Amino acid sequence: MASIFTKIITGEIPCYKVAETEDYLAFLDINPNAKGHTLCIPKKEVDKLFDLDETSYHGLLEFSRQVAIAIEKAVPCKRVGMTVIGLEVPHAHVHLIPLNSMEDARFMNKIQLDKVEFQTIANAITSHL
Ligand code: AMP
Repeated sequence: MASIFTKIITGEIPCYKVAETEDYLAFLDINPNAKGHTLCIPKKEVDKLFDLDETSYHGLLEFSRQVAIAIEKAVPCKRVGMTVIGLEVPHAHVHLIPLNSMEDARFMNKIQLDKVEFQTIANAITSHL
């Protein structure tokens, strides 16, 4: 069965898109740790990050780097953190999280945003790519 992220790639499930190339997609995490929390994924569906072939792995990291630089320009924060977990969604993804304190990296305190706020942040990040 297709992963929820593959369904986002095919458009079956909506997302707040931040960036897209032929091979990668970045969109806002729907249950963010902080404003601007973004997920970067390969379009190729592979469960674990370290099982990606070398080209896809390096490509995803380079794509994530470009998105992180745009997040840093668009969202006030001390720095952008990068985390890989994958316990919930079995489709390789990199979390990019604007950090102001260690709490923002802990996946414990979540923030609520409405549709307009999500779209505004996604647009702001995209505008800095
Ligand atoms: P993990 O697999 O543990 O790295 O966590 C998966 C992440 O995907 C969580 O932070 C979820 O909030 C996020 N997530 C799950 N479904 C969606 C979705 N439809 N759109 C955006 N983010 C999602």
